[in-house]
Amino acid sequence: MDGAQVTATAPVFILLGPPGAGKGTQARMLQDAHGFVQLSTGDLLRAAAAAGTDAGEAAKAVMEAGGLVSDEIVIAILKDRLGDEDCAHGVILDGFPRTTGQAEALDELLAEAGQHINAAISLEVDDAAMVARISGRFTCGNCGEGYHDVHKPTAVLGTCDKCGSTHMKRRADDNAETVAQRLTEYHKQTAPLIAYYEGKGVLQSLDAMGEIDAIAATLSGMVREAEG
Ligand code: AMP
Repeated sequence: MDGAQVTATAPVFILLGPPGAGKGTQARMLQDAHGFVQLSTGDLLRAAAAAGTDAGEAAKAVMEAGGLVSDEIVIAILKDRLGDEDCAHGVILDGFPRTTGQAEALDELLAEAGQHINAAISLEVDDAAMVARISGRFTCGNCGEGYHDVHKPTAVLGTCDKCGSTHMKRRADDNAETVAQRLTEYHKQTAPLIAYYEGKGVLQSLDAMGEIDAIAATLSGMVREAEG
């Protein structure tokens, strides 16, 4: 990992789970509570697409169709971000890896840095509930805080609780057709990673169908235990 700042003491956590399982919400809460950096390849790809980079342009159509962006692009983008100084405090990978090829590439990157995965935590949810969850979600366009029409509304309609911005965003790929494709990709390409990490002895699972704060408290305990 040339130039990467992940040190031998920097914890690495992976959040596994289908779209809508709450990976982003929980990763942000862990970031706030534990000081780790949330690394979302979805966010990195959306930023690259918005910036019009070659990788972003290539990824855009695939993301809009609910497919998986090529391992080559995603690994390059993640490797680049891992090199940033803030990652030295530890990272929570949200939405990466999503294929066995990505998982193997991550193992190699970490081995080169003398680092290991502290835990891969699988957020377990029902497919049927995922579509409802995804279709109600939105984020603050300023600070990125995540909300949901039913499960986590803003205190004041249309105003971010965290930063006060009124610029709210909904993702273009959060529509029923694309969500169905994303769930199909998850079961085909990503769900096998549960067995992959179980085989490495780092898998932990938790029921992620309940209240956000209760899940966050359980997750935080798991992270604290696996941090050392
Ligand atoms: P997310 O924000 O994690 O829901 O990701 C949104 C979209 O970005 C996905 O549906 C994929 O098209 C793409 N994407 C994000 N992370 C990955 C990844 N690790 N591998 C391939 N595609 C990804």
